[in-house]
Amino acid sequence: MSQSRFNALDNIQNRSPYDIEPLDPPSHVISSFYGCNVFNEKAMRKYLNEESYLKVKAAIQSGSKLSRGVAETVATAMKKWAQDKGASHYAHWFQPLTGRTAEKHDSFFTLDMKGNAIEEFKGDALAQQEPDGSSFPGGGLRTTFEARGYTAWDPSSPAFILEVGDGMTLCIPTIFVTYSGESLDYKLPLLKSQSYLEAAAIPICKWFDKKVSKVGVTLGWEQEYFLVDEALFNARPDLMMCGRTLIGKTAPKGQQLDDHYFGSIPERVYSYMRDLETECHKLGIPVRTRHNEVGPGQYELAPMFEDVNVAVDHNQLLMDLMERVAVRHKLKVLLHEKPFSGVNGSGKHNNWSMSTNTGVNLLSPGSDPGKNLRFLSFFVNTIMAVYSNADLLRATVASFSNDHRLGANEAPPAIVSVFIGDKMTNVLNAIEKGKASKADVKDILNLLSKIPDLEKDNTDRNRTSPFAFTGNKFEVRMVGSNQNCAQPMTVLNMLMGQQLLNFENDVTAVMKKNKKGSRDTAILKVLKAYIKKSKAIRFEGDGYSEEWKKEAKKRGLSNNLNTPAALEAYVSEDSKKLYADSGVLTEVELEAHYDVMLENYILNMDIESQTLQELCLNYVIPAGVAYQTRLAQNMAAMKTAGIPAKECAMQKELILRISKAMNSMNDLGKKMTKERHTAHKAKSAAACAKAFCNKVKPLMDKIRVHADDIEMLVDDQDWQLPKYREMMFLK
Ligand code: ADP
Ligand code: MG
Repeated sequence: MSQSRFNALDNIQNRSPYDIEPLDPPSHVISSFYGCNVFNEKAMRKYLNEESYLKVKAAIQSGSKLSRGVAETVATAMKKWAQDKGASHYAHWFQPLTGRTAEKHDSFFTLDMKGNAIEEFKGDALAQQEPDGSSFPGGGLRTTFEARGYTAWDPSSPAFILEVGDGMTLCIPTIFVTYSGESLDYKLPLLKSQSYLEAAAIPICKWFDKKVSKVGVTLGWEQEYFLVDEALFNARPDLMMCGRTLIGKTAPKGQQLDDHYFGSIPERVYSYMRDLETECHKLGIPVRTRHNEVGPGQYELAPMFEDVNVAVDHNQLLMDLMERVAVRHKLKVLLHEKPFSGVNGSGKHNNWSMSTNTGVNLLSPGSDPGKNLRFLSFFVNTIMAVYSNADLLRATVASFSNDHRLGANEAPPAIVSVFIGDKMTNVLNAIEKGKASKADVKDILNLLSKIPDLEKDNTDRNRTSPFAFTGNKFEVRMVGSNQNCAQPMTVLNMLMGQQLLNFENDVTAVMKKNKKGSRDTAILKVLKAYIKKSKAIRFEGDGYSEEWKKEAKKRGLSNNLNTPAALEAYVSEDSKKLYADSGVLTEVELEAHYDVMLENYILNMDIESQTLQELCLNYVIPAGVAYQTRLAQNMAAMKTAGIPAKECAMQKELILRISKAMNSMNDLGKKMTKERHTAHKAKSAAACAKAFCNKVKPLMDKIRVHADDIEMLVDDQDWQLPKYREMMFLK
């Protein structure tokens, strides 16, 4: 049941910061409890014998399958560890294609053959489980193949204990597949893309260092979010149903004064952040930085980077924790990309790089850039990779909610381009102009070595770029705050893997042709060609400007402003081939994933449209009518008192303005309902999504204008929905 705005405001008056329960050892010494709820190295060493420990470690490192016997031993150790921590249940934890994470809890408790109560956790239960799959989206995969969905243990991401209230559950990270192995989640494609990239990168790395035998992908995300008071949230049906405000007059003071960024953090929020960070640290999520963001009531949290698979799991877990921890602080966390119109939305920057078993970050110029042709190779190949299918990268961040950021005059634009900064631009220009001769290799590397420390140089960072080089990594800035990082990371890995395979072939071909030439000159020659070819994707200017839109069009770059348009890139011939060649998804799986994305869009647009209709009928019109009635009563009283009618011109005008807005809103509402019904009759999911986007959504925007007018016109006492200023500034 939603409550009234005035009730909510009363509640807030009496709020005080939540007293966080003290930890033992104290929570400020993070190293003393960091990872205490994770079945990590330390726990494994304690609960497994030496032999099993080494086998598990080897399997994790090589990504190979564990034998039944070892799985049995690990399960027993995990159970003992979890029980010592107070866990009574276990769950396979997975990431279905929509929604955030899912888990099905089973107890360790069972009855043995003789009916005696025992606690049991077998290797089989660790390795595989069958959740009630029918409630998760499968884009027709499960009807085509086999009705059931299965989860299977991913040993490369450590098991952990989730504390929910007083209950503790051992959670096992898993992939989610159909009986015949088709992917129903984000994790399996990510793992496959990582292997694909690794296999392509190792031979290149070996050119420079024979000792390289492993290449991993690293991800450091930055998570933005809004916080609002729980009572205000509960008084807004649109926040409850859709995660964003569908109507609401913007506050006179938005983010214009710019006094929140790095400003002091309100006490209640500070208490929430500390509490959240402690929960993260217990689960081994290495969060480090926190600060205010651009929007009022908006904040950011970022960890140290990790292996991409673990980083993705940690981000999924974080979003879950954020919501759980907020409850005891009587706050609600808004992860929607655009909860409030007129203020900055929330994103999730994905800092991406690759590193080797020899400890080298492949996108870092390193301490001796004069010798670093390897860095240049990975750097230029990344640009080529994005250039080769930027539309697919754009598709991975398309969602009904992220549409309010990308292409909606907010960072970053929907046109994918790559920013590298003027120093690297100079280097690439020199390569492009050079002859790629032996002497040239020396000159270029010399130039690179003269660049002052790129990693520390943040001065020319371009905040409007969707894909930017930031000294020792590339940063995907298009990802929505609510999204799973896995999709953009999967596609980036695939594109890079494919590109590196091409690179190896191209360099080998040049070497064959120039029998006497060195590999370094061949590399430079190929890089030179790539720099020329991929030039269209590079842009250093203002991504918001109108000129860029025109210029990008000339360059042949897409500007897919909405989800239905952007998603089409998933099923282009190029993308299908890439997914198939890399082994990440078969064409059938890809089509199914595409369908799920479309269905998700349709479902959410439908919910938004219906919720808006309800808001208008149940909140906006009643407020308008109530105020009109009082105005009319006032006019009648004035007349009785003998006041000339012309003295009531203002009352009359207000009544008429409210009527006009209400009538327009009502007409548009009827039209919107009709369009919604028509959309559902479309022949395909793609056509239905397009109809929602092109027919329903514009009407929603028009309705909002009238609703916001009415909010402005009516007596504050008649307006039952919390106002923007209250949601953003009251903590
Ligand atoms: P910004 O200026 O974009 O806010 P920050 O310094 O706050 O940058 O964030 C940098 C992010 O980049 C952190 O999440 C960090 O973990 C991540 N990062 C740093 N080095 C790497 C790397 N080699 N691979 C992946 N991510 C990295
Ligand atoms: Mg960033």
